[in-house]
Amino acid sequence: MPKILFSAPPGLWAEYRAPLARAFEEAGIAAEVTTETGDPAAIDYVVFAPRGGISDFTPFTGAKAVLSLWAGVETVVGNPTLTQPLCRMVDAGLEEGMVEWVTGHVLRHHLGIDRHIRATAPHWDKRVPPLARDRTVAVLGLGELGRACAGALAALRFRVLGWSRTARSVVGVECHHGAEGLRPVLERAEILVLLLPRTPETEGLIDAERLSWLPQGAVLLNPGRGALLDETAVLAALDAGRLGHATLDVFRVEPLPPDHPFWSHPRVTVTPHIASETRPASAARVIAENVRRAEAGEPLLFRVDRARGY
Ligand code: NDP
Repeated sequence: MPKILFSAPPGLWAEYRAPLARAFEEAGIAAEVTTETGDPAAIDYVVFAPRGGISDFTPFTGAKAVLSLWAGVETVVGNPTLTQPLCRMVDAGLEEGMVEWVTGHVLRHHLGIDRHIRATAPHWDKRVPPLARDRTVAVLGLGELGRACAGALAALRFRVLGWSRTARSVVGVECHHGAEGLRPVLERAEILVLLLPRTPETEGLIDAERLSWLPQGAVLLNPGRGALLDETAVLAALDAGRLGHATLDVFRVEPLPPDHPFWSHPRVTVTPHIASETRPASAARVIAENVRRAEAGEPLLFRVDRARGY
């Protein structure tokens, strides 16, 4: 019977205990899932989330995989004690939540909804927004989440540009890739969505120079990672009008410190890292499927490439 250590911030166990038990039962696996490490060498799999989870993987000599509950693995991928295979979370609930957050915030800016919410009556300001087909939205990152969001925006008939490290193809999306592919995307991005992972290559990618490539008044949405942005450059671009608005869900320091200028900036919307969340019921099935695969000698799903960092 595989022994599975649930190593995550304490509050999560209550959320995951029953869904994991159900998922293993559905997968036909008799597993012992525990929060007690006991003999670390006897642990077969570690279900992991940082900040409360283990930080030294050395004693887990028998572990066949470390299964992350989160999609982003930047805080664990470089851990030198982690020699076991690392898998990240790709979860239908995570994807659906991100599509909803991204399309909701794109539509807010596309339709100019704020103007009507903030207006004081009487206010008959008849400015008809353009159709989506006349608005260009760019999505940086065409992975599991970026592809889903780009596809949903294309289905709403936005002109969608996408950018990734290697060449990708997404129906309804004009795809670009690599260093040379970025500028033509940013130059047309009226609304820019960041769905890149944090890696040494993407850290600080959106800096003063790249912001200067955007159309005047472009809107920035960042549900990716805070470190993708040069925050000082974003504030300067907002003040200069290069950026019309920034809606930010993720930050270099979380929770965003109370005195951070993003809180008080009139053209910044802060959402508290809620763009999307791993959902226990569907995520537990992903964990159970990976354990089933490993036990059957099949390749693991969603394995992280240590060299790429995602
Ligand atoms: P994936 O690993 O599936 O996709 C990553 C995408 O980024 C790929 O298209 C990849 O290119 C591209 N990419 C990576 N490095 C570069 C680079 N140097 N240049 C150009 N493109 C690059 O990740 P997901 O879609 O699952 O998740 C994306 C990120 O979203 C996560 O890493 C996490 O940070 C964030 N996230 C945020 C949440 C929130 O609530 N705010 C919730 C969940 C995730 P290629 O296709 O060529 O490999």
